[in-house]
Amino acid sequence: MKKAANRLGNRSTRPQYDSGLYLLILKLDKRWWIKVGRLPATCFEPGYYVYVGRAKRGLKGRIQRHLKKNKKIFWHIDYLTHYAQILNVLIKPGAYDECRTVRKLRKLIKDSAIPLRGFGASDCRCLGHLLYLPALTSIKNLEELLFQTEGFKGLN
Ligand SMILES: [Zn+2]
Repeated sequence: MKKAANRLGNRSTRPQYDSGLYLLILKLDKRWWIKVGRLPATCFEPGYYVYVGRAKRGLKGRIQRHLKKNKKIFWHIDYLTHYAQILNVLIKPGAYDECRTVRKLRKLIKDSAIPLRGFGASDCRCLGHLLYLPALTSIKNLEELLFQTEGFKGLN
């Protein structure tokens, strides 16, 4: 009985669990000028950032990679995580609409801004997949909202 339940559980979660959307909630303690890939050097203000990413496969591995401190820089976000601390990670397995999520977040967080045009958005028409929030105040509310209305969840 237990075995069957396990198998069923695996079957229903495994196919979609290793791909999907993720949000990194980041904190930057001080102002940094950062040159992100080929984008112009930009002054990143202290405060909070939300990055919207997507893994076509290897979602868990991707997140573990983001959380690792020493790594070869590959994604735009790697430039920022070198300086910023990842406070939280939210995931939405099986979802791929990162651009819509960015638009949704911009609506939900009234005082958000796009700090750097083109960040994480090389293959789409978004202004960027990184949002800047000057204060923490809205982050907890934002997370609750994303859990309740957008189907995001925590890592564990
Ligand atoms: Zn986009």
